[in-house]
Amino acid sequence: MSRINGFLGRRDLLKILGIGGAGAAVTAATGGAMWSVVPLPVAAADTHSPTGTQLNSSEALKKLQDGNQRFAKGKPEHPRQDQARRDETSPTQAPFAVILGCADSRVPDEIVFDQGIGDLFVVRVAGNIVSPESVGSLEYGTEVLGASVIVVLGHESCGAVKAAIQGEALPGSISYFVEPIKPAIAPVIAKFPGKIKEPLDKKLVDDSVIANAKYQAARLPEISTILKKRIADGKLKIVSGRYDLDTGLVNLV
Ligand SMILES: [Zn+2]
Repeated sequence: MSRINGFLGRRDLLKILGIGGAGAAVTAATGGAMWSVVPLPVAAADTHSPTGTQLNSSEALKKLQDGNQRFAKGKPEHPRQDQARRDETSPTQAPFAVILGCADSRVPDEIVFDQGIGDLFVVRVAGNIVSPESVGSLEYGTEVLGASVIVVLGHESCGAVKAAIQGEALPGSISYFVEPIKPAIAPVIAKFPGKIKEPLDKKLVDDSVIANAKYQAARLPEISTILKKRIADGKLKIVSGRYDLDTGLVNLV
């Protein structure tokens, strides 16, 4: 089995994801972390040519920014959301961008970027944190499906970030997405002594949201040899952003 920088090659990955070995899990090592790669329910990924149909990183980012401008101005086009687009994307998918966004109900990525079916490969988890599962999804969206930009998207008044700032005990499994935020915001909290209780200082929260988005984005090429190589090859750009709940604007940070 061929490997790219110690990880599975694309062809091998396609074999796995093409349900050739349905049900079989393959364990791979990246950056010392071990996890399983299992088939994803994506139609005909092995028939897609990721290099022939995609926008480059700059074009993809501009398409996102243009869509966000339309949305923020109240002039969305709701593109590619009709039967023709369903017909076009039913056999395969070729998203031009990948979003690692928060699960927050106020930040639906296709809406805020005014994009359509098959345009965005979206990974949403509270706090837009990097985890083995989110990294695997980002690798799939880029290495296999060919998207040329990843946006790690934080947002105003993020509850996960607020919870990380306050650092209190949390019920159930909630701490799983709060803990990975803490190292990102520690330098910010240090600048706001005595302000870590409700009501939280708005600048403390905003600065923490931005620090978290930048931190998670910076971690991606450190953890993933696939993403690191795609960046080195000029096939991928990773950026971080903050979505404003009031204006609807995404600003890169
Ligand atoms: Zn959030």
